[in-house]
This record gives sequence, structure tokens and C-alpha cells, in this order.
Amino acid sequence: MMKVNSKEGIVATHCPFCGCTNGVEVNEKDYLDWQDGALVQDAFPYLNASEREMLISGICPTCWFNTFGSEDETVEWGDEDE
Ligand SMILES: [Zn+2]
Repeated sequence: MMKVNSKEGIVATHCPFCGCTNGVEVNEKDYLDWQDGALVQDAFPYLNASEREMLISGICPTCWFNTFGSEDETVEWGDEDE
């Protein structure tokens, strides 16, 4: 389901809801740390919540919002302010 292109550090994710494919840009070492048991927020502090969710479940931001979103939560997409 997930593949890592080690050159680019892109994790390809496949959304289980709509079937779309996304790429999350990560550091390869961070990805390995995560695979080794690190918490996603510790392994990828530079990713926003939507990107972390794509890594964990593959759910794309659109489907995540449609499924779990509420007025209280903002799904950030393509914004790397943090
Ligand atoms: Zn989707």
C-alpha cells in the first residue's frame, strides 16, 4: 500500500475512500524511525495533521474532512506554516 521513493522521500498513499493517490514528502530517516515505532508527530514534526493522517491511514484531506471533519477542526492542506 505504501511505497517509499528513497531518492525523493515521497511516501505514496492510497485513499481507502475515494481511491486517490497522494504523495507525502518526508525525510527517509524519519520514515524509518516511524516504521520503527516512533510516534508520527515525533517522527514528522514538520507535517501538518492532514499529511500525518495520509501517512497513517491514507485518507486524503477531502475524505478526512467529509468523514471526520467538524466545524471545530480545520483541515490544513498545502499550508506548511508550522
Ligand atoms: Zn479520498
